Amino acid sequence: MLVVTDDAFGGHLRGSGHVESADRVVAVTAGLRSRRLLDDVLSARRAGDAELMRVHTAAYLALIEAETERLCHQAGDPRFAMLSTGDVVIGSASYEVARRAAGGAILAMEQAVEWAKATFALVRPPGHHAEQARGMGFCLINNALVAARAYLATYGGRVLIADFDYHHGNGIQAGVGNGVSYVSTHAWPAYPGTGSATQSALLPEGDVLVNVPLSSGGLSTEAFVAIWARLLPRVASYVRPNLILVSAGFDYVAGDPVGDLGIDVGAAGMLAAGIAEVAQRYCDGRTAYILEGGYSIPALIDSVAGVMAAIDGRMSPVSGAEWAAVPASMRRVLERLDAMLGAAGSS
Ligand SMILES: [Zn+2]
Repeated sequence: MLVVTDDAFGGHLRGSGHVESADRVVAVTAGLRSRRLLDDVLSARRAGDAELMRVHTAAYLALIEAETERLCHQAGDPRFAMLSTGDVVIGSASYEVARRAAGGAILAMEQAVEWAKATFALVRPPGHHAEQARGMGFCLINNALVAARAYLATYGGRVLIADFDYHHGNGIQAGVGNGVSYVSTHAWPAYPGTGSATQSALLPEGDVLVNVPLSSGGLSTEAFVAIWARLLPRVASYVRPNLILVSAGFDYVAGDPVGDLGIDVGAAGMLAAGIAEVAQRYCDGRTAYILEGGYSIPALIDSVAGVMAAIDGRMSPVSGAEWAAVPASMRRVLERLDAMLGAAGSS
């Protein structure tokens, strides 16, 4: 599986002790390399102004630049500060690293499209909380949305963003429509407080917003996988995407220091096998995974390795047999979604 990453991603918050740490890319790439899983790697590139401004305002980008630039000239400690728009710690390198993360997501998307396959953008900082003019939740630039808009600017059509991170991607939700659809499972109640099932909606011109909140008290791995095995095919049959982007956050794994839905680390491969089947059906396999959360380094290595195993054909999609594991309240949410989507393309 092609991986887009970059040593530069270690330069954001290095030495800060922050949970969104440099090791999320540095140690994870080392771990994957030691397992001989990194045989196809491209370096990220810096996203251009025009690419970023499809999603963010010029004023917001100037704000990040100014606030990081200020840290370059600051003598002594602290070398880190809080971005004025929200809970994102920044250092002097953060703006450039974030631009490279967005460029990495675009590059992974371009490779997925060109070669009709699945790719992985192993980037940081994450992106799905970043709104048009507001960084928050460790996110500065919305990498998945930037990649989606880059695709649409070149090819048109429809992009479906599937987000299985522990948290709801409020930034992606705020940017849906005009060719971008979004389906998310996320803990509820939990940060950032958006993503209720009642916000799910059909959007103009065939786009859709689908929120599936999960009890933050935890869920069985079988149920989590079964929910996605049912949800994604239904949403995809409605959207008929030309490209699937995955906001791939692995903070749902049991023991994650930030999230933790009690899900087994093996879920990633099962999710990816199901996504691959849907992508094969609608868009010749064109899928770009973009790293979001996931704060346990061993779990992150195992999860990315699991996605790779599934993409490289070493794992089969899950059958519907686990549906019985899904709690009744969750089944009702999914049945209401079926009704909203008109059971389009159901089999
Ligand atoms: Zn998260």
